Amino acid sequence: MNDRAIEIKENIESVKKCIAKAAQKSGRKSSAITLVAVTKYVTLDDMRYAIEAGIKVVGENKVQDAKKKFFQIGPVVDWHMIGHLQTNKARQAAALFSTIQTVDSLKVVEVLDKEAMRFDRKLNVLIEVNISHDENKFGIHPDETKQLIQAVCEKEHLVPVGLMAMAPYVEDKELTRPFFRVLKQLFDEIKEEMNPGKKWNMLSMGMTNDYEVAIEEGSTLVRIGTGIFQKQSGRR
Ligand SMILES: *Cc1c(COP(=O)(O)O)cnc(C)c1O
Repeated sequence: MNDRAIEIKENIESVKKCIAKAAQKSGRKSSAITLVAVTKYVTLDDMRYAIEAGIKVVGENKVQDAKKKFFQIGPVVDWHMIGHLQTNKARQAAALFSTIQTVDSLKVVEVLDKEAMRFDRKLNVLIEVNISHDENKFGIHPDETKQLIQAVCEKEHLVPVGLMAMAPYVEDKELTRPFFRVLKQLFDEIKEEMNPGKKWNMLSMGMTNDYEVAIEEGSTLVRIGTGIFQKQSGRR
């Protein structure tokens, strides 16, 4: 193994340790939390090292980039779309991703269902919720989320699996906690009131800066880029 492969492996191991600790605090096993390696800025080599070190799910934020990487790496990992989806990219997205984490409008629901039908696939869908009420961020307003879930439930080729959100970036991670709590509550309400199905189990919240807090608040899927691919100081 070369230095970079070792570095990525060590990063993954230390992220996994932190996941296990945070899971324990919330009374869960680390196996209840899926680690998604966010590979949007990384090279194919780095991606391969992460996969060799045990990564099973990758997150990409641009369809075009994901497509290039998919041709090289293939379906050995599960591909999640974590960036904003433009409807004119829905066909390619439906062809290569198993899961779209960023559905936030009725229009995207309609188009994705149609494209998934073309490939005779079922796509897992998470609704992206704008929990920080930041106008510059994507995501549907929390009050409109149930309506959108209803629309997903009615589509033959879409499977509602959960909710995704980003907390505002803050120095003090503790300040993200109330945002995650709101999303968890919405996630539970939908489960109880709407009966979205057996696959409703993905609460995608937490990035490098705040994933421990997110897990303590009930996250079942964390999206980590920097924490896995950063270069450690003291190494070349
Ligand atoms: C880039 C990105 C991440 C990963 O962020 P890090 O801080 O590098 O862990 C997670 N989620 C989304 C939606 C992203 O765009």
